[in-house]
Amino acid sequence: MTLKELQEIIRKTYLHKDRQRGLEGTFMWFAEEVGELAQALRKGDREALRMEFSDTLAWLLSLANLAGVDMEEAARRYAHGCPKCGHIPCRCGEVRNRYPREEPETP
Ligand SMILES: [Zn+2]
Repeated sequence: MTLKELQEIIRKTYLHKDRQRGLEGTFMWFAEEVGELAQALRKGDREALRMEFSDTLAWLLSLANLAGVDMEEAARRYAHGCPKCGHIPCRCGEVRNRYPREEPETP
């Protein structure tokens, strides 16, 4: 199954519901799935990871359907490696391994 085929299956399965929910409501569900994926990653439960990765992908494809984006076409940006430096593996210098947090306000 290609990404294009999966997006079409998601479209046929859920577009009527996705349209009723709207872009903003669908984005909220997507965000909730990302949160569940974060929990599964923290716990490291293989079955939960498979489920949460697939749910997150399905909600992302629902969003793409509502926004009129062909995900296979969009994903081609990465077909030849890093879209910034053009290399496989990426040669961009910076490794972002910490989530930026706001510093607590000092009085
Ligand atoms: Zn790069």
